[in-house]
Amino acid sequence: MIFDYDMIKRHYAEFPVKVKKAKDFLKRPLTLAEKILYAHLWKDEELKDFKRGVDYVNFSPDRVAMQDATAQMALLQFISAGLPKVAVPSTVHCDHLIQARVGAEQDLKNALDVNSEVYDFLSTVSKKYGIGFWKPGAGIIHQVVLENYAFPGGMMIGTDSHTVNAGGLGMVAVGVGGADAVDVMAGMPWELKFPKLIGIKLTGKLSGWTSAKDVILKVAGILTVKGGTGCIVEYFGDGAKSLSCTGKGTICNMGAEIGATTSTFGYDESMYRYLVATGRKQVADLASEIAEYLTGDREVYENPEKYFDQVIEINLSELEPHINGPFTPDLAWPISKMKEAVRENDYPEKLSVGLIGSCTNSSYEDISRAASVAKQALDKKLKVKSEFTITPGSETVRYTIERDGFIDIFNKIGGVVLANACGPCIGQWSRQDIKEGEKNSIVTSFNRNFAKRNDGNPNTYSFVASPEIVTALVIGGKMTFNPITDKLINEDGDEVMLDPPTGEELPPKGFGVEDPGYQAPAEDGSQIEVKVNPNSDRLQLLTPFGKWNGEDYLGLRLLIKVKGKCTTDHISMAGPWLKYRGHLDNISNNLLTGAINFFNGEANKVKNQLTGEYGSVPEVQRAYKEKGIGTIVVGDENYGEGSSREHAAMEPRHLGVKVVLVKSFARIHETNLKKQGMLAVTFANKDDYEKIQEDDVIDVVGLTEFAPNKPLKVVLHHSDGSVDEFEVNHSYNQQQIDWFKAGSALNLIREKFNN
Ligand code: SF4
Repeated sequence: MIFDYDMIKRHYAEFPVKVKKAKDFLKRPLTLAEKILYAHLWKDEELKDFKRGVDYVNFSPDRVAMQDATAQMALLQFISAGLPKVAVPSTVHCDHLIQARVGAEQDLKNALDVNSEVYDFLSTVSKKYGIGFWKPGAGIIHQVVLENYAFPGGMMIGTDSHTVNAGGLGMVAVGVGGADAVDVMAGMPWELKFPKLIGIKLTGKLSGWTSAKDVILKVAGILTVKGGTGCIVEYFGDGAKSLSCTGKGTICNMGAEIGATTSTFGYDESMYRYLVATGRKQVADLASEIAEYLTGDREVYENPEKYFDQVIEINLSELEPHINGPFTPDLAWPISKMKEAVRENDYPEKLSVGLIGSCTNSSYEDISRAASVAKQALDKKLKVKSEFTITPGSETVRYTIERDGFIDIFNKIGGVVLANACGPCIGQWSRQDIKEGEKNSIVTSFNRNFAKRNDGNPNTYSFVASPEIVTALVIGGKMTFNPITDKLINEDGDEVMLDPPTGEELPPKGFGVEDPGYQAPAEDGSQIEVKVNPNSDRLQLLTPFGKWNGEDYLGLRLLIKVKGKCTTDHISMAGPWLKYRGHLDNISNNLLTGAINFFNGEANKVKNQLTGEYGSVPEVQRAYKEKGIGTIVVGDENYGEGSSREHAAMEPRHLGVKVVLVKSFARIHETNLKKQGMLAVTFANKDDYEKIQEDDVIDVVGLTEFAPNKPLKVVLHHSDGSVDEFEVNHSYNQQQIDWFKAGSALNLIREKFNN
């Protein structure tokens, strides 16, 4: 089955026309990234030579993907917009909430039990609003997207940072916050700062133990975790063409680890083969007809320095396998340097567990190569020395690798196959083999290896490598084992070496699956009722925020004057609060609990002006809310930096904060506040921050004439009777002012739809 074929057909009919128009206007050859961006400009966006890294541009993505943890609030918001169905093809994937403990079957059963309420909600909402739903066990969002939805030249957004994986099939695919997903599903544009462009030329050809994973491990070492920030990375050259499509996916997937907006590859034969193998020959044929438009122009690749902001060249023939880590994915060690690295840095030499799979590395090619290494342990009578887990990326991959005998090989060497889900990659791992806090090494074929990410233990030294290298290390049992040079002693006491892995890009017998785990949306969802138990502590339907009452804000109390850094983590912490992501009232109990109060230098301790006593921020805010008293939050520079999580804007709005006044905002958080109907303003003169006192009663004046580029006025009534007043700026355009007046952007959408 080809999903959304009509949309893709339309897209391919229009794509060359749009690219030609952009090229005629810009009068220069284009990179692939530019072609995709210009072909997806929002209908009202004027065609111009956008300044990279400067201009904010509105785009029309072709589709939206959401994983279960982030989909909850996104869909709750979508429901509150009151629309009958999503405006673009969208999907939900249940992959993040399954804990790995003993093995696929039992772990999945437990997850269905523990998370049934969330799964039922996501399934019903999906059915009602025209969203494709992938059940728990169906697979990991990015693998399922690659197998079913990604198409060359397309643009998608997804509420997960590794959405970028779809660049392996030539898309511009970007990870975003739930608020962006809601906008696009509701038919609004998606805004992005026009990215800078990094070109990576790949020459030569992979061989032996080296795989596509080593390309991105090498790139991470070159560019570091920040080097790709604000950029699209475009791979090209003969080396790029020689990689499999899923190998390209691996490279793009881990592009998130260098901070890149996304990464992509031009359309080529490997993509054709993959589309055909995954049942999408018609899409492949359409793409082939306009192949020249689905890759960068020849002139660009011949003179990349002229067209990219930065160019890197990597010769695949010379590339060594890499092991990156611990604790950061950009600490890149060629495998020949690993012995030295372990010795000099005192990394635990014994390998406790090797884990392969995840959305990064669970293609048929990955698994077949890893299995070819595992089989050698059996054939050469080698004892496997470390624990070993395998996470298939999708039910299609799992079914196919079981049919083709690979799971049997893994089982025979003591491997444990986990559910088709994120599991240990996102810390959903009930690890049994070590004591809490014990120093140990693990190596995964995943993408992230920050401290505590996999098992919550700060003393787990987590390294990242290709699945075949992970498998070899599991057999060798040591982080210092180098399969290219080192011998092992087998059960007969003989010295043996592992041969380089072999594998198949695609299954020779084709992919197979009995039940892929997909639930189609209803033809007509109007009669489907979305039920949420009012006593649930994980889910809560949203009540639309109230409209602006048409008056200035008078008599506000200061909730907190924040001192120094205040990220979205300070405003809405993650960790134990993750489980409340679908329950606005419960998660609001973490509001600003990490922010430092200017007046006492403490976190989560602010004065309640009504009683004179100090309490936690949420507690004090709830006391004001109960009395119907509006409040204001005052902040420092770059307030709200960090993630794009919309909870950081929804929580203060829900608890009755009216205004956030800061020296400067992180842009995405500022937009999120505007979308939720908050007043987000900045000091015209930053020194006025000093004038705010703990007992102030505060007015914001000028709202009745709220207009773009027109400052507002803040009046401080100090407790000693004196008064200070000063100007504050805002960046609202007319549409955003309309959001403010309606109470939120979604309220406005609902109003428009109902009229
Ligand atoms: S497998 Fe890991 S990286 Fe991939 S989506 Fe799941 S948590 Fe994210």
